[in-house]
Amino acid sequence: MEEQLRKSDTLNVVGELAAGIAHEIRNPMTALKGFIQLLENSMEKTDGGQEMYFNVISSELKRIESIITEFLVLAKPQAIHYLEYDVRKIMTDTIELLNAQALMHGVEFEVHLEEDLPSIFCEPNQLKQVFINIIKNAIEVMPKGGTITIHMNKADQDAIKISIQDEGSGIPHDKIRKLGEPFYTTKDRGTGLGLMVSFKIIKEHKGHVEVKSALGKGTTFHITLPTT
Ligand code: ADP
Ligand code: MG
Repeated sequence: MEEQLRKSDTLNVVGELAAGIAHEIRNPMTALKGFIQLLENSMEKTDGGQEMYFNVISSELKRIESIITEFLVLAKPQAIHYLEYDVRKIMTDTIELLNAQALMHGVEFEVHLEEDLPSIFCEPNQLKQVFINIIKNAIEVMPKGGTITIHMNKADQDAIKISIQDEGSGIPHDKIRKLGEPFYTTKDRGTGLGLMVSFKIIKEHKGHVEVKSALGKGTTFHITLPTT
């Protein structure tokens, strides 16, 4: 209980900070990107060494950008609009969006979406962001390929159950509670913000998440969302 409280306090503070910082950083970033592009275009293509510098600059800029984008999701909730929406569509859109990335990693989807699912009162773009973040993690945790199994079913008591299961390395038991902590990442190029943002969005939709994991077998994210 105490742990829960502390976590949500941290979330609020980080959220407020995020709003200010993210907007402030975005503008100079856009200028930087533009001028680096101009500089690159005006340089001779003969010097291989310098081309590498540009590659590094642009990949680092991309990294900053993804951190900012994730922070902005935190900053937005004041202005979001909830509407009745078909969650199946949000999921199929997400899968379509990530299909190329999955293919590149040898990952395939097995999708079971129950027909006649009730629509839910939600912010579709935010829920899409949640699905993207969780499915991206699932893809990233299977470098040798595998299957991501997705279920969407009607649960009793006016709720929808969504599960996203991977065949990755799994998460050690004592690390599961660290998921969603700001900046918790085990990846070289991770931001450690994806799950934090996702959990926050689910909470704002009055839903909840449970993570089940078995080392060497894989991880399943169980999401429950209330229907209207
Ligand atoms: P990032 O992906 O940038 O590291 P996330 O917040 O998305 O940040 O995830 C935080 C951490 O949670 C990851 O670095 C990873 O250690 C762990 N994690 C998340 N999803 C999975 C998964 N499906 N399987 C194993 N570990 C996971
Ligand atoms: Mg992630």
